[in-house]
Amino acid sequence: MQFRTDAKNGNELSALGFGCMRFPSTAGRIDIDASERLIVEAVERGINYLDTAYLYSGNEAALGEIFARNPGLRDKVHIATKLPMARCEAATDFDKYLERSLERLSADHIDYYLVHNVTSAAAWSQLSSLGFEEWVKEQKEVRRILNVGFSYHGPKADFPLLLDSFDWDFCQIQYNYMNEEYQAGTAGLMAAAQRGLPVIVMEPLLGGKLAGELPTAARSILSDAGIGDDPARLALRWVWNHPEVTVVLSGMNTQEQLLQNIETADEAFPGSFDSAEAMAVEKARENIAKSYRVPCTGCGYCLPCPKGVNIPMCFAAYNTSFAHGWYQGMHQYITASGAMVGNARFASDCVGCGACLGKCPQHIDIPNELASVKKRLQVPGLPTLVRLGVGMMSR
Ligand code: SF4
Ligand code: SF4
Repeated sequence: MQFRTDAKNGNELSALGFGCMRFPSTAGRIDIDASERLIVEAVERGINYLDTAYLYSGNEAALGEIFARNPGLRDKVHIATKLPMARCEAATDFDKYLERSLERLSADHIDYYLVHNVTSAAAWSQLSSLGFEEWVKEQKEVRRILNVGFSYHGPKADFPLLLDSFDWDFCQIQYNYMNEEYQAGTAGLMAAAQRGLPVIVMEPLLGGKLAGELPTAARSILSDAGIGDDPARLALRWVWNHPEVTVVLSGMNTQEQLLQNIETADEAFPGSFDSAEAMAVEKARENIAKSYRVPCTGCGYCLPCPKGVNIPMCFAAYNTSFAHGWYQGMHQYITASGAMVGNARFASDCVGCGACLGKCPQHIDIPNELASVKKRLQVPGLPTLVRLGVGMMSR
């Protein structure tokens, strides 16, 4: 495993971090045995940075159970988890959420504690006004928190303000070859590194769009350049090529993905991405941007929708209809609706209640974009036909 040094404290962190949010699951429940196998193997192979969050349903508790089943495992890793900033209304909430995270993780300290999903300098000021800085200083003194940072999904201009607003130990940004100018972007990565901060990267594959979901035309561009065989590997290598990047998080939920990513991490040193590869990625970029109309990463933060709309799946189907053709998108849309399990919900079921608004780290105007999904994929009478078909099948 390649390791990169945390410039702030000297820790040697594995270049590949395990994003636990996408633990294997069955029918919406985390499969603990399968998750345990993956984490144990990941740690055996050198991964020492595990990322979770208070808000990832059942995730901290699953990790805690894996630690309990494997004595000594916790001491081999750095745990990163996150304070649900949007739920903090008073200073007492900081203690409440940290204690709950520690309890779920069966841990007495958090190695890397993040303020989750900072979306603007103003949002940070609001948290700061509740006394976050004083509180975190106390937690560091008693060593319940070792390093404090923030995960960022705000505008580019606010990122340097955030960096300078507090004595952070690290930061986490969304970064991949499509997001050089989006959110913190390349300028933000450089700004953090210049301040001596380790940078943890999330969404290196843009929720799969730069891997298995890569648009057909973009894949052809990469194949013509001789680098289209493994788009996920290419995208990861592009990120690791930046010496300013410390850890890249990947939500691996199969052993195959784990082994592939470890193999890539082993060889993806800064400067290993050659100029021909860089040119091919540059050419593919424009095509990908045209194909993916809604920048949804499938994180699920907007769920549940009170009307049962599967928001990320609707957007995935919509994007597929541009990236891989209308029929494939339509097929995905019908599957995404839940019709096959007899509980069909479509984009048209959105009533614009606004419950999802403000939850999306990509700042997507969800009801408005669902209207676009409906317009493109919902042929007249589709919900009735699908519901009728499922009803007949169940007789
Ligand atoms: S606005 Fe629409 S998609 Fe969002 S929560 Fe309400 S019904 Fe669901
Ligand atoms: S719409 Fe936004 S919050 Fe919902 S899954 Fe997509 S990126 Fe995540």
